[in-house]
Amino acid sequence: MLTLSTLYENSVKPLKCSVIIRIKVSGVYAILLFMTRLLTVFGIIYCLQAGAQFSKNEYLPGRTTGTLPHLEYGLGYDRLGGAKMTFLDTNIVMKVVDSIKEVYKVQLSKYHFAYLPKVNFKADNSIKIQPYYLTDRWKVYGDDKYDYIKITLDEQLPYRSIQQINPSKIVVDIFGATSNTNWITQFSTVKEIKNTWCEQIEDDVFRVIIELNHEQHWGYSIYYEEKKLVIRIKQQPPILELEKLKVAIDAGHGGENEGTRGVTSRVLEKKYTLLFAKELEKVLQEEKATVFMIREKDTTLSIAERVAMLKEQQPDILISIHLNSSGFDTVRGTSTYYRYIGFRPLTQTILKRMLELGLEDYGNTGSFNFGLNGPTDYPNCMVEVAFLSNKEDERRILDPKFHKHVAEKIVAGIKDWLKNIHQ
Ligand SMILES: [Zn+2]
Repeated sequence: MLTLSTLYENSVKPLKCSVIIRIKVSGVYAILLFMTRLLTVFGIIYCLQAGAQFSKNEYLPGRTTGTLPHLEYGLGYDRLGGAKMTFLDTNIVMKVVDSIKEVYKVQLSKYHFAYLPKVNFKADNSIKIQPYYLTDRWKVYGDDKYDYIKITLDEQLPYRSIQQINPSKIVVDIFGATSNTNWITQFSTVKEIKNTWCEQIEDDVFRVIIELNHEQHWGYSIYYEEKKLVIRIKQQPPILELEKLKVAIDAGHGGENEGTRGVTSRVLEKKYTLLFAKELEKVLQEEKATVFMIREKDTTLSIAERVAMLKEQQPDILISIHLNSSGFDTVRGTSTYYRYIGFRPLTQTILKRMLELGLEDYGNTGSFNFGLNGPTDYPNCMVEVAFLSNKEDERRILDPKFHKHVAEKIVAGIKDWLKNIHQ
């Protein structure tokens, strides 16, 4: 960590030393001494200049930029990155207060801080960050697929959201905002929003609460239109049958990203995720579902590219397929993953069906930090079919009949989920 105090300490110390040394030297050494002092003075000027961007206002103003900007809660890290607070739109105002390796510490409100990757920040010294910004009137309405809440704000401010269940709600906190909302107009075109209101939970944290009509969360997107914050909520589809739904399938890895390898066969994960994905596509098409395949060949695609494709396709649900691996060759079994609690039911019904194949239960994992579990826009489920690092699981993964059985079980799990949803 680089702070102002360490900058000053480092640059002042050499001066004190030079005073002691000067007593013991004369003649030609005096020239060397003079040059040392000159360099020290230049050093101080350089350090002060480097610190100036922070010292002037004690923060560095700017905006979010690049692909998939996101905030992290702390400096924790695992192989999939730190725990994420939220994904953000671009062009959102940010107040950088410190710099730590690849991230900036940003101040969201008086008492809230987070960490933003440096690649997602663009400095802009023309921005004068205000102690608070005001919210204005809201408009709440729907079209044939989505409900919208549009909130006028003074500035494009950072936000975070959570899903709640029983009863189902979406809660959005807007940082740096103070209420001047005295007017929430709700039109009868809404289908999913039961109620919406606001609470000023801290002087500069403004909370939007959205009660949903249905128990099942179908997803939502948060973005800005100029200075209007838009919360777009997917309505529950009127007919809950596969033939009315669009299912996106993500075959994990691909191209340069090979994934793991079979313990005895050395087969590549990327090849087999695609074989499972293609079987799943076939079974879904037999059910007359609309299918979107993220990849159909051995293509290299980053997580950001996959998420961008999904944003354009707007599927009703996403199934991502991977094959697991462990350092212990006795570890085996099938597992499903989700990040947001509102999307859990889909991952539970799929796992239940997968277990009918006689695979061991490796569990249903929540708060999972996998990139394709990150979007809030549609229910999503990551399936780790079985372990390529276990001989027994590997034998099954290599069998083409097993690919078909897995596809049938995933589809049966989706159908169970649809059946369980209250209209
Ligand atoms: Zn994988």
